[in-house]
Amino acid sequence: MTANLTLAHLYPDLMRTYGDRGNVMALASRARWRGIDVDVVGVTRAERIPAGADLVLIGGGTDRAQETIGEDLRGRREELRDLSGAGTVVVGICGGYQFLGHRYVDADGVAIEGLGLLDVTTVAGQPRIIGNVRAAATFGGRSFELFGFENHGGRTTLGSGATPLATVGRGQGNNGRDRTEGAVQGSIVGTYLHGPVLPTNPAFADALLARALAAPGRPDAALAELDDRLEDEAHRLARARKR
Ligand code: GLN
Repeated sequence: MTANLTLAHLYPDLMRTYGDRGNVMALASRARWRGIDVDVVGVTRAERIPAGADLVLIGGGTDRAQETIGEDLRGRREELRDLSGAGTVVVGICGGYQFLGHRYVDADGVAIEGLGLLDVTTVAGQPRIIGNVRAAATFGGRSFELFGFENHGGRTTLGSGATPLATVGRGQGNNGRDRTEGAVQGSIVGTYLHGPVLPTNPAFADALLARALAAPGRPDAALAELDDRLEDEAHRLARARKR
């Protein structure tokens, strides 16, 4: 039987800062709990993303890991453009988010060309931006609060093609200047939030799933309610953090 949801985890061996695999587990579990058959496929350098992937996730990474991946990433532009053009949801976390943009100039001044799927550009600066974040987010017509942890040297600036994923109430977000956090362009989403972010923010996970399960050009899929007592408790605890 072919899976109802194929989830590709890009560079699971190199881009996995702060347990980004937890994001993959949250997405896969929330789909399976609804009776959806899920195929999780790890894809690293020189491997192809499955043609029918519904969702691609790239986690965070150090500058060194990002430099290591740079060349492979350049060869993926077409593959990811084709997938996203066909409606595949692409999610980038921190370093993965920077890779979805035009370029990331890291702390050593090395310019790593990104996929250009998001109209954003990132340049490393000092000091690093570190701390807990609370933000008000919107994706796919759903609005929700986001809690997470940020740790990045990169300052990301959005161009006119991308809209912010969220507005920061606590923490610094994209660049510490404009109170924006993350970016959205069609079905492409980037965020600086770690945690991992999705287990603690089930509304965000569901917004991504609803889009990934929609037929191209169709409204986001309706999802059955889940028993989220544990997730809601994690969300409440994150909200209660003082700083
Ligand atoms: N290396 C990038 C930066 O420092 C991304 C960090 C991360 O993914 N946590 O901005």
